[in-house]
Amino acid sequence: MSVDFDSVIIGAGVIGLALARELALAGQSVLVLERAASAGLETSSRNSEVIHAGIYYPTGSLKATLCVQGRDLLYDFCTSAGVETRRLGKIIVATAPEEEIKLQSIQALATANGVDDLQWLTADEVARLEPEVRCTRALLSPSTGIVDAKAYMLALQGEAESRGASFAFNTSFASARRRDGLFHVTARGSDGEAVDITCTSLINAAGHGAHVAATAVEGVSKAQLPPRFLAKGNYCSVSGKSPFTHLVYPVPVAGALGIHATLDMGGAVRFGPDIQWIKDFDYGLPDGLPEKFATAVESYWPGVRARTLSPSYCGIRPKVHGPEKSAADFIIQGEAEHGIAGLVNLFGMESPGLTASLAVARLVHTLLRG
Ligand SMILES: Cc1cc2nc3c(=O)[nH]c(=O)nc-3n(C[C@H](O)[C@H](O)[C@H](O)COP(=O)(O)OP(=O)(O)OC[C@H]3O[C@@H](n4cnc5c(N)ncnc54)[C@H](O)[C@@H]3O)c2cc1C
Repeated sequence: MSVDFDSVIIGAGVIGLALARELALAGQSVLVLERAASAGLETSSRNSEVIHAGIYYPTGSLKATLCVQGRDLLYDFCTSAGVETRRLGKIIVATAPEEEIKLQSIQALATANGVDDLQWLTADEVARLEPEVRCTRALLSPSTGIVDAKAYMLALQGEAESRGASFAFNTSFASARRRDGLFHVTARGSDGEAVDITCTSLINAAGHGAHVAATAVEGVSKAQLPPRFLAKGNYCSVSGKSPFTHLVYPVPVAGALGIHATLDMGGAVRFGPDIQWIKDFDYGLPDGLPEKFATAVESYWPGVRARTLSPSYCGIRPKVHGPEKSAADFIIQGEAEHGIAGLVNLFGMESPGLTASLAVARLVHTLLRG
């Protein structure tokens, strides 16, 4: 029996796009199914656009290794594709002696993860770099930067298409079953009409839709899936000129990095994301955000009360654990986990998924090659 595509990818977020490029460059015929009208409209366009250095994740975890690899791949890809990035550097600030102890553990973890460029800064050195920041000591991460996420995704899509990858927008993955070494995939257009496709490999990069998509593959049982939780991250914009030229972070809190300042490509500063556990999908912003954020950041930016903070947007983290646990790794399940050759399911692709995207794509390709 002839096969329509070597690989079908579910989801055109940044992970699906990086995968489409990776597999198309390897000479595969690729189809990406995306239920929305264009690529990257969910989590991939609702984040901080930070290229993380790989500092905080447990050593040896997928997050640590794929972030460090992905960061370098991302800078190189963006340079060659003409996508704007800026290595602004990030300053992680301690405002009290107990936080300085946390900075020491952060530095030890970073070194163990292969992030060997962190530099200690005294309060005076920070004052020279960032006159508005107040702290007792800090760590500078020179390899942290920002990327224009939309331009990055467009470049991935463009390169995948130029190597022959096809994108079916407004088309949802509905189900799949494996017969005689091939997946028989059913997809549905926005008019509800079903289309049947055959492929050798099926990659589930559906982000928040990954659990539903996985259970629609015959042979995958609910027991094989990780738990599913949602944690919203809200942002506030700041009136006037940016007070900072670096990204400025407090020491991390459970489950998130603490309310920090990032800059966008236009030089505007935004604070966030916070962490708000939610039950149902909701991109609305909660009341009282400006006051909550001002209280959180005034310990390291006393000037906040002279500015106006305005609620701006939010993203939702696809978590695989609840609030009682502080972190979990990416979950990338291949045949060894679910027993179905040619199927890869990705769960919990929260931060640093944007940074790690090209490395995730390489890993999935390796898994598919067995
Ligand atoms: C608040 C926040 C801040 C973040 N900040 C950063 C950061 O600064 N740096 C960083 O590296 N990472 C960051 N991240 C993480 C990063 O945004 C994600 O890891 C990444 O965007 C995940 O991409 P994805 O392709 O897996 O998911 P998505 O972008 O959600 O894409 C999944 C796609 O699948 C589609 N889909 C779902 N179900 C189906 C179906 N049945 N059929 C067809 N299509 C389907 C959806 O429409 C969607 O387009 C942040 C995340 C959040 C929430």
